[in-house]
Amino acid sequence: MVGVLALQGDVREHACGLARAGEPFRAVKSPEHLAGLDGIILPGGESTALRRLIASSGLTAPLANLLARGLPVWGTCAGVILLCRGGVWPVIDATLQRNAYGPQLASSVRRCLTVLSEHPFPMVFIRAPRLIRVGPDVEVLARLDGTVVACRQGNTLLTTFHPELTLDTLFVDVFLKKVRASRLGP
Ligand code: GLN
Repeated sequence: MVGVLALQGDVREHACGLARAGEPFRAVKSPEHLAGLDGIILPGGESTALRRLIASSGLTAPLANLLARGLPVWGTCAGVILLCRGGVWPVIDATLQRNAYGPQLASSVRRCLTVLSEHPFPMVFIRAPRLIRVGPDVEVLARLDGTVVACRQGNTLLTTFHPELTLDTLFVDVFLKKVRASRLGP
């Protein structure tokens, strides 16, 4: 069972992506929703609003504890902001700049190769953050115009674009592979 942080943002799109991949889903709004999860997705949305809602949800400490114990996590766009330096749960050695690609009108879909497949992936960027530095232990999965747009370290996966807005299951499959490999006992 994979949770999606469901305080704000594109929760339903991630739920649809998980359903397409055959993985049960739970909306996570408060600490009791974390029980028994095998992984969690932090969706895109608006990170300032997300930070405020997280602070009042009581999720900060219990989720920090689970992430420290290796719960697989996937951040998309605003979710990436929560997982990098300065974020609520800074579990990956990476630094970013918010809204670095310009205003909402500069949103775009770019087809880009990743190290995960020989086919380009349709990357949907919506006022995305730009990763300006990733640490030496971070594995780069894709770069666009020289900038890292997908990467992972341990059980943490980041995509500064929105794979959940496309029907291509490449990234949800990669995340679920990690979830299934990390799942404890029967
Ligand atoms: N611009 C948003 C922020 O900084 C992120 C946008 C998104 O998640 N699509 O929080």
